[in-house]
Amino acid sequence: MKLQLLPSTFDATGFCSQQQHLSCFVIDDCLAIDAGSLAMATTAVQKEQIRNVILTHAHLDHIAGLPLFIDDMFVSLDEPVRVYATKEVIAILEDNIFNWEVYPKFSELKNKRGAVMRFVQIEIETEIFIKHLRIKPVEVNHGVQTVGYLISDDKSNIAVTGDTAKTDKFWDIVNREKSPAAILIECAFPDELEDLAFKSHHSTPSVVQRELKKLKHTNCPVYVINMKPMYRERIVKQIENLKIENLHILEVGKIYEL
Ligand SMILES: [Zn+2]
Repeated sequence: MKLQLLPSTFDATGFCSQQQHLSCFVIDDCLAIDAGSLAMATTAVQKEQIRNVILTHAHLDHIAGLPLFIDDMFVSLDEPVRVYATKEVIAILEDNIFNWEVYPKFSELKNKRGAVMRFVQIEIETEIFIKHLRIKPVEVNHGVQTVGYLISDDKSNIAVTGDTAKTDKFWDIVNREKSPAAILIECAFPDELEDLAFKSHHSTPSVVQRELKKLKHTNCPVYVINMKPMYRERIVKQIENLKIENLHILEVGKIYEL
């Protein structure tokens, strides 16, 4: 399985930076998990192939590129872009984004070949099948309705927490699966901002350390994601200080073969 966290920020010289403002992971160049930088950072091949997007939740940093992607692709689409999300997330998007005021209601629009965007409602812990991938949404703890995902193909499986604070269900379900090739875990804030992390239902390095004690697959590589860009350096240092051998930082833009 090929996994890439798309870039979303430029450094001082205009090149892509490791700071992550937006969240958008691409699997095998054909499935997007979240759509933060979907319109802005996809390659031509990815633009051509991505017709399925699964959303963790409706926060702006996870959906910002979705309306722009449909807009970019509007004329050339010969099938609708299918957006998989829970009922609650679909309602938030239809009421607040695709509402003719912030952006067009693409679910009601067609190009010459038909519909351009279609929502597909997912149910918590009910598997969905997209192309060669089996995907299970698992509810996490982020203050608003949010899911993480377990994604498998014939050869390997990965787990992505999405945005979350302390959670048990996700680890219970990951522990029942065969050992993942990678687990992606959020860590938005440094330890000194634990109050803010707690109030906004995010994690800190100390929370990550406690959460990983629930994981039974002790040798599985774990990658930290969704670090708030302004705190990245501090979070990276605190993660390194934990000295957990299989805990790494997911590199923005890098293609991981899992
Ligand atoms: Zn969020």
